[in-house]
Amino acid sequence: MSDTPHHTVTLPLPDEAATAALGRRLGVLLRPGDLVALRGDLGAGKSALSRALIRSVTHEDAEVPSPTFTLVQTYDTAIGPVWHFDLYRLSGPDEVYELGWEDARAEAVALVEWPDRLGPLLPPDRIEVTMEHDGPDARRATLTGHGALAARVAAADWTL
Ligand code: ADP
Ligand code: MG
Repeated sequence: MSDTPHHTVTLPLPDEAATAALGRRLGVLLRPGDLVALRGDLGAGKSALSRALIRSVTHEDAEVPSPTFTLVQTYDTAIGPVWHFDLYRLSGPDEVYELGWEDARAEAVALVEWPDRLGPLLPPDRIEVTMEHDGPDARRATLTGHGALAARVAAADWTL
């Protein structure tokens, strides 16, 4: 996407521990009002990455169920509220308002699986993370900071 200035980082994730390390890196970077769009096929690791991120800002054995059926799960964390969305089953962008979208955007970090469901509500300032298979337990993450988040992604340490 070339809608706004952006900065891209590609990270090999040889095992799930590497994905967890990426979750911790994201956790220290994010602030209320930020949005992370999580892309990739079913089983790519969007929820695994989200779980690791949320555990890194709550506690390491926190219950972090996939929002597959509830569409959203909310957490009180060290970086403020975190709302974890899975919009696969959303019927249209307007339905997201019923989930509390405006509150999430105003006060929380939003982690959004299947962000294409947002249509025009996808904000220009965001971090895109695309997860891809690279073997049975290996993944590759491509991170792009868009708009106001481009500089933060560029300045961050992505050593895992
Ligand atoms: P998604 O939310 O993208 O559909 P999930 O996170 O629910 O995917 O599932 C990813 C599955 O792949 C989990 O069972 C997880 O344990 C497994 N897995 C294996 N290796 C990795 C890895 N390197 N990163 C993330 N998940 C991995
Ligand atoms: Mg998922």
